[in-house]
Amino acid sequence: MTTHREPLDSVLETVGETPLVRVHAAPEEVPVYAKLESFNPGASVKDRIGKHMLASMLDDGTLPPGGTVVEPTAGNTGIGFAVAAGQLGVDAVFVVPERFSVEKQQLMRALGADVINTPSEDGMGGAVERAHELAAELDDAVVPQQFANPLNAEAHYETTAPEVFDALDGGVGAVVAGCGTGGTLMGMADYALERNPETHVVAVQPEGSTYGRLFGEDPEADEYKTEGIGTHDVATNELFDPEKVDDLKTIADEDTHAEMARLAREEGHLAASSSAANCLAAVEVAREIRDGDVDAPHDTVVTLFPDSSERYLSKGVYRSFEEWEG
Ligand code: PMP
Repeated sequence: MTTHREPLDSVLETVGETPLVRVHAAPEEVPVYAKLESFNPGASVKDRIGKHMLASMLDDGTLPPGGTVVEPTAGNTGIGFAVAAGQLGVDAVFVVPERFSVEKQQLMRALGADVINTPSEDGMGGAVERAHELAAELDDAVVPQQFANPLNAEAHYETTAPEVFDALDGGVGAVVAGCGTGGTLMGMADYALERNPETHVVAVQPEGSTYGRLFGEDPEADEYKTEGIGTHDVATNELFDPEKVDDLKTIADEDTHAEMARLAREEGHLAASSSAANCLAAVEVAREIRDGDVDAPHDTVVTLFPDSSERYLSKGVYRSFEEWEG
C-alpha cells in the first residue's frame, strides 16, 4: 500500500490506510472523493471486517483459538476473512451462492479456506441458513454473521471513517455507500453523525434490490448484475438502520456498466460494478448539494470503490452490456 512506508511484519498490517482520490466527473464546486479499497491485501473493503471481526472475536473469547469461522458471503468477505484467518490461526469455511464470481471463490481456496456453494435461486438467505447448519455440525465453529454483527459496522467506524475524516480535515458533507450488509455505510454514518448530525447519509442499491421496503416503498424485486450490493430480503439486513439514512439512490445496471467503462477510460480506475454505482450516486449527491436541493455541512462528498474490476473479468464486465453476465 502506498501509505505504508516502514517494513511490516504481517500482511494484516497492510489492511486499511487506503488512498482517497478525487472523482473528476463531479462538479468543481462540490468535490467527490473515493476511497480505493482494492489497495487492501485481499483487494477489497472486506479485509477491514475480516481483520477486525476475527481479532475481536478471538479477544473476547467468542471464537476459541484454532476454532473455525463459517460465513455466508458473496465472496469479498470470504477473502477478507480468509486472509485474517490464515494469519490468526483460525480455520475458515465459506458458503457462497453459485452465481458469484469464480475468481473470488478461487482466491478463498488459495488462502486455505473451504468453499461450499448454494443454489443461486436461494439467494443470500439460503447461504445464511446453510452456514448455520454447517456450524452446528462442527466443534468450535462460529458464524460471525456479517449481516447482523455490530463488529462489521464497527470496523468501518474505527478505521474507514477516521481515515477519511483525517484526510479531509473533518470536511465531510455527505457519505455515500452501496449497501450489501450495510456495514460500511452504518459504520461511516455513525462516525460522521457523531461529528455532525447534519451529515447527509446516502445508501446506494442496484435497480431490482428492495432496500426501499425499509423506507415505506414497495419496490419490485428483480435480478441485477451489479455485484456485492443490494438485497432481496430486507429481513436479513439487520445492521441497516434506515433512521440514519437521508436518501436511497437506485442505480440501473446499464448506467453502472457504462460508468465502469468510463472510470477506466477517463479516470484510470479498474473499479468494479459497486464502485461504479457508488460513483454515479455520489456525483448525483454532489450536484444536489451544488444546486441547493440538499443541505450538507460541507461541500464535499465521500464514497468508496469497494473492489477491482479485475475480479470480474471472467463475467465480461468490459464487454457489451448484454455480454456482461453479472
Ligand atoms: N461492494 C462489494 C464489491 C462488496 O463485496 C460489498 C460487500 N458485499 C459491498 C460493496 C457492500 O459492503 P457492505 O456489506 O459493507 O454494505
